Amino acid sequence: MAKIVILGGSFAGLTAAFDLKRKLKDKAEVIVISKTKNFVFIPSLIWVPFKWRKPEDISFELRPVLEKKGIKFVHAEATRILPESNRVETTSGVYDYDFLLIATGPDLNFSEVEGLGPQDGYTTSICNVEHALHAGERWEEFVKSPGPIVIGATQKASCFGAAYEYVFNIEYAARKAGIRDKVEITFITSEPFLGNFGIGGVGSSQKMTEYFFKKLGIRGITNVAIEKITEDKLFLSNGQVLPFKYAMIIPPFLGVKAIRDSGLGNEAGFIPVDSTYRHLNYDNIYAAGVAVAVKYPEPTPIPIGVPKTGYMSEVMARVAAENIASKVLGKNHESKLSFEDIAPLCVMDAGNMGVLLVASRVFKPRKYHILFPGPWSHWVKVWFEKYYLWKMRNGYTQLP
Ligand SMILES: Cc1cc2nc3c(=O)[nH]c(=O)nc-3n(C[C@H](O)[C@H](O)[C@H](O)COP(=O)(O)OP(=O)(O)OC[C@H]3O[C@@H](n4cnc5c(N)ncnc54)[C@H](O)[C@@H]3O)c2cc1C
Repeated sequence: MAKIVILGGSFAGLTAAFDLKRKLKDKAEVIVISKTKNFVFIPSLIWVPFKWRKPEDISFELRPVLEKKGIKFVHAEATRILPESNRVETTSGVYDYDFLLIATGPDLNFSEVEGLGPQDGYTTSICNVEHALHAGERWEEFVKSPGPIVIGATQKASCFGAAYEYVFNIEYAARKAGIRDKVEITFITSEPFLGNFGIGGVGSSQKMTEYFFKKLGIRGITNVAIEKITEDKLFLSNGQVLPFKYAMIIPPFLGVKAIRDSGLGNEAGFIPVDSTYRHLNYDNIYAAGVAVAVKYPEPTPIPIGVPKTGYMSEVMARVAAENIASKVLGKNHESKLSFEDIAPLCVMDAGNMGVLLVASRVFKPRKYHILFPGPWSHWVKVWFEKYYLWKMRNGYTQLP
């Protein structure tokens, strides 16, 4: 029986685990090792600070869901991978494998900028449950004594969509709280233009974003790095100094420490893969999701990264799972889909409205792209959250 170890139990890891068990049944032992014991629908973390969602509304425990499908769950952190001896060291023992799928997502690199982040700095984050709850505590204080707000993404950041969703949601929350006239909102980004999203823009995304910023009174500053942050000021690379009373800044991502310590990744700790999602140097190691190394296709004045969204993470996991299953079954078939050729599908929420984004490829040139703004997009995201949680709780990863 083949032994398949999956590191990570989120969009990529969970998808691959269910797919592999469904395809291989008793021909493989599938083990998921995750440092968090819950699956969290991360896209809804943008609503947690305003209490429009509680963490328990958007998460479930991994163990019962996986065990019901005959998948073993280990709640532990992988600390090192030993690819020459096919072993993973974890905080709860050593596991050997025939195939390894790395789906560990990112580490958040707050050390990129002095004063960045909720732990040792002055800005909030919405990248995980603890950060979103902390961002909510700061929001409650802010509502009592409002002032300038700065939302954005640093140099080398990649998750721009979350920053845009948050600035629109905070603008909406300020209106709902009756403090909008006391609040100046600025959006800062390393993107070369508004609506670039780390994928070079999609159709009229620049014009559309500029239009909504103007309509809602949000000031946008592009092409900037953050030099340092103090208790109440942000210092930008273009010389501007922005005072703030509330700031949420998306940091750059790195591959997780276990990968960086194992020498399996590039200089940022992301895994180089081919179009089957197999590691370039190891035949039995695959990677999917944010853990995969991807480069923005051309240089930008301020360095930026490429978003690996939940949908893209799932697609990568499916391809990787299909290829691992093929090998276990001794088939010759290889499924290939390079990252650039994934067709992105995303709903970006803006409080009481949003925009649906569909494109034929991640980067230009594209055969088609659709940007569809409207209040219904918000309800699509609300529906999708519920559908997705139901689908993953039941292991129905064969569904769209
Ligand atoms: C605020 C926010 C909003 C977003 N909104 C959207 C959206 O609207 N639509 C969209 O498509 N995408 C969105 N994204 C992106 C989406 O969340 C990611 O694409 C997705 O979470 C990536 O999935 P993943 O499985 O690769 O990694 P992650 O979701 O980061 O999961 C990593 C997993 O690995 C585990 N892990 C980490 N290190 C270790 C270790 N050493 N050992 C064992 N386990 C480990 C973690 O516990 C976790 O289970 C958003 C992201 C953020 C931060």
